[in-house]
Amino acid sequence: MSDCLFCKFVNAEIEPDKVYEDDDLLAFRDINPQAPTHILIIPKRHIATLNELEPSDQALMGKLTLAAQKIANDEGIDGGGYRLVINCNSDAGQSVFHIHMHLLGGRSMGWPPG
Ligand code: 5GP
Ligand code: ZN
Repeated sequence: MSDCLFCKFVNAEIEPDKVYEDDDLLAFRDINPQAPTHILIIPKRHIATLNELEPSDQALMGKLTLAAQKIANDEGIDGGGYRLVINCNSDAGQSVFHIHMHLLGGRSMGWPPG
C-alpha cells in the first residue's frame, strides 16, 4: 500500500529505529513510547486490521508472537514482564492501519487498560 506509513518502513522509503527483521517481519521502536521499552512488530505484508486476518495467516501471527518473545528477551524485560497489544479499529484506538503488535515493558502496568 503506497500510502501506508508502515509499508514505507518495510520498503525502506523511511528508516525506522529497527530492532529486528526477518523475511516476514519488521520490528522498530515506537516514536512516542508509552513505556521504557515500546516496540512495534509488524508483518511485512500489508494487512490493515485483525479483522482482515485469514486462516492462512496463522503461522505468520504465531511467528509475530515468537518474535515478540525474542525481542523481550533481547531487551531484558522478559523476567520482569511485558505486555503485547494489538489494537483493532476505533474503539481500541488503532491509528495506523497496518497490523502491529505493541511490545511494552520496563515498568509495571495497570489493568484494565484505559
Ligand atoms: P495504534 O494506535 O495504531 O495501535 O499504534 C500506532 C503506533 O504507531 C503508536 O504507538 C504511534 O506512536 C506509532 N507511530 C506513529 N507514527 C510513527 C512513526 O512515524 N514512527 C514510529 N516509529 N512509530 C509511529
Ligand atoms: Zn501497510
